[in-house]
Amino acid sequence: MNYNLSNIKKAKYYLDKNECIGFPTETVYGLAANAYSKKAALKIFKLKKRNKRNPLIVHYCSLKMLNNDCMINEEFLKLYKKYCPGPVTFVLKLKKNSNISKIVTNNKKTLAVRFPRHHLAIKLLKILKYPLAAPSANISSKISPVTKEDVKDEFGERIKFILDGGRSKIGLESTIVSLLGKPKILRLGGIERKKINKVLRKKILYKKNDKTIVVPGQLSLHYSPGIPIRLNKKKPKENEAFILIKKRKKTSKDYYYLSKKKDLKEAAKNLYKVLRNIKNKDYKSIAVEKIPNYGFGEAINERLKRASVK
Ligand code: AMP
Ligand code: MG
Repeated sequence: MNYNLSNIKKAKYYLDKNECIGFPTETVYGLAANAYSKKAALKIFKLKKRNKRNPLIVHYCSLKMLNNDCMINEEFLKLYKKYCPGPVTFVLKLKKNSNISKIVTNNKKTLAVRFPRHHLAIKLLKILKYPLAAPSANISSKISPVTKEDVKDEFGERIKFILDGGRSKIGLESTIVSLLGKPKILRLGGIERKKINKVLRKKILYKKNDKTIVVPGQLSLHYSPGIPIRLNKKKPKENEAFILIKKRKKTSKDYYYLSKKKDLKEAAKNLYKVLRNIKNKDYKSIAVEKIPNYGFGEAINERLKRASVK
């Protein structure tokens, strides 16, 4: 894919000035800023209206740089070798002499780190002297962005620059694995849990309610289009948007398909696109057909459940 070197330089220019920028990754677009700078990291929280108790994921492009900030263990190296760069985030111990701003971690002694695969993300990270803190580039509790236009839809003119990297290939956030003690999955996402199990040669627990690690408010509204969502429905009410997992012969303008033939990976990629499309129309509510709860279906159902919290 072609890219414009001057845009990468422009992104660096703003980041070096402690500004936030829109940042393309293969999962979703991030709102990125210098993870070593308190001033820059504070801007992320302000723009997103994010609770400061909710720590940020930090993005790296090399183990050498990660070594400055985190303690690395064997399980991390196994997963890193197999899936990085890629859609997986690791929670590791922070080194005492790390320069990561305390705002980024909410003063914790741990850090969530990721190695994005998007070629522009890598090119940008390579020319920076610091890693990038980058949560999804949306207002907190709203739908995650998967294109430059989506980031604009969220923030309008309030962010200085968005690096355009096309549409995010995965379209769903990273899988988060805590490697602090016994490995645990904290969030389902871009890599299926069976793939993590395979590399670590054991069944890893999915512990979204572990009070020692999980940030407060994890079960609150998230990924929300701002209108009620009804799950596991066979049909919609009148004038309601209806999200389906596969194409139907008898269709309607109010039907929105996640995939052609019940392909869960394709459905995961389309989920936020479809939700944002519906959000920007005049619907008062959304019905969703039952989505199979395996593979990427698990992550899709988790997102939809959070989006339907009343
Ligand atoms: P997001 O809000 O999509 O940026 O996802 C970030 C999530 O990563 C947070 O909600 C936390 O669940 C998790 N996270 C980030 N940093 C840490 C950390 N140091 N320890 C545990 N979980 C973390
Ligand atoms: Mg997010």
